[in-house]
Amino acid sequence: MTKDMLDRFAAIVGERNALRNADQIAPFLVEPRGIYHDNTPMVLRPGSVDEVSQILRLATETGTAIVPQAGNTGHVGGQVPLEGTRDQLILSVSRLNGIRAVDATGNTMTVEAGCILEDIHRAAGEIERMFPLSLGSQGSCEIGGNLSTNAGGTAVLAYGNTRQLCLGLEVVLPTGEVWSGLRSLKKDNTGYDLRDLFIGAEGTLGVITAAVLKLFPVPSGHQVAIAGLESPEAALAVLKLAERRCGGALTGFELMPRIGVEFTVAHIPGNRDPLSGKHPWYVLIDISSGQSQEAADAMMQAVLEDALTETLIGDAVIAQSETQRAEFWRLRETMSESQKHEGASIKHDVSVPVAEIARFMSRADRAVLDAMPDARIFAFGHMGDGNIHYNISQPAGADPDAYLARRFEINERIYDIALEFGGSISAEHGIGQMKRDRLAAIRQPIEIDLMRRIKTAFDPAGIMNPGKVVARPD
Ligand SMILES: Cc1cc2nc3c(=O)[nH]c(=O)nc-3n(C[C@H](O)[C@H](O)[C@H](O)COP(=O)(O)OP(=O)(O)OC[C@H]3O[C@@H](n4cnc5c(N)ncnc54)[C@H](O)[C@@H]3O)c2cc1C
Repeated sequence: MTKDMLDRFAAIVGERNALRNADQIAPFLVEPRGIYHDNTPMVLRPGSVDEVSQILRLATETGTAIVPQAGNTGHVGGQVPLEGTRDQLILSVSRLNGIRAVDATGNTMTVEAGCILEDIHRAAGEIERMFPLSLGSQGSCEIGGNLSTNAGGTAVLAYGNTRQLCLGLEVVLPTGEVWSGLRSLKKDNTGYDLRDLFIGAEGTLGVITAAVLKLFPVPSGHQVAIAGLESPEAALAVLKLAERRCGGALTGFELMPRIGVEFTVAHIPGNRDPLSGKHPWYVLIDISSGQSQEAADAMMQAVLEDALTETLIGDAVIAQSETQRAEFWRLRETMSESQKHEGASIKHDVSVPVAEIARFMSRADRAVLDAMPDARIFAFGHMGDGNIHYNISQPAGADPDAYLARRFEINERIYDIALEFGGSISAEHGIGQMKRDRLAAIRQPIEIDLMRRIKTAFDPAGIMNPGKVVARPD
């Protein structure tokens, strides 16, 4: 890109917010998985919707590729330049971080795209409401990124994923036009749902600048327990039992393997083995009650007693305080991070129908151990909604590069097995650049064709995050 062209973009946001220096740009290029390393000539940090609009209008006029970025915690390389390119500009929405309106009566909050998820939790708490989207990255991911990836997290079982938590959007289109769809209606059957097209589009159709989010009453009671058990089959039986006992009060049901507990206790300061004995598997059960703390406690007690009577679990512990509830969740939420201390890992964010989880895992384990007998399988995740992070750590002491060289071969095997069980190759992280070709290979040609036609209709110049999700038609 010429200096003149970069100067034109910089003039829109001012030199202070047009980062060109390698040291300033570096943090925007380092993504959590450490897979993508391409460069950008400039990071633009607009401070208003109008500046976003001017940037996109100029990008369309000049054919300049724009990569939207929010908190830069995405797992599929959607928020960083496409591998093999050096001329895509990053548009960071982080400075658009205002809370525009809070409506305690309508239970809604209108927020800008750069609001950090944890700040939204705090703002909802100030009016005694909650926003239930909950992710391990919530201290740094931003709502524009959550919406654009349709993030899942730990409360999907009860509240759905981000799509279900959003009522309206404001979006800047690639032409620079602004679509103001900040409606807060729960019922609105008036034509095609444009909002749902932008949610989960991973920045390929436009830049989300603001959203109306749904808030919920804070539950009067909340309880968390961890139980040790023998197998994923037993975990599934406990899930069914908990659903029967608790109905909509069951807010989380997470599966963790023994190796995960060992890694997180070994590498994350403050984490402790939750039970006195060792168990091959663990489940974390989270229950909320709209009535009282006593009601949440009683439900948890009943679930665990039934599970013990039916010999589904070997042991269990119920949190005795809010601090302990947070400790239990921390054990689960630091699993991924703890894995980094054990060398390289090959990861899969897959989902299968809940009833098939145990059979999927047993088939996947066999396939992995046939290929790599010493690999350390570390499958954990949101069992309640069928989403397993089927991760595999390198054999202890192995060469990480040699191990990672087999990544694609193992990915293919695991994705094939998930698909055989009627599952998905991306449960909650999206497609980005990582899974684009795989998506094209597994979806019906008509689906890919429709996606391309939508892309072309919204972004005829092809400037919005090109190369992500779907390739342009040849
Ligand atoms: C420790 C950890 C735990 C995680 N746990 C979970 C989990 O439980 N569930 C889950 O779903 N994910 C999880 N993730 C992945 C990640 O946090 C989510 O995908 C999150 O929603 C990304 O938000 P972000 O603000 O970081 O977006 P980014 O990474 O910056 O961007 C993600 C995508 O959205 C696009 N985008 C960003 N902002 C906009 C915008 N304003 N308009 C249009 N497009 C935009 C980008 O181009 C990119 O394609 C985890 C990540 C980490 C590091």
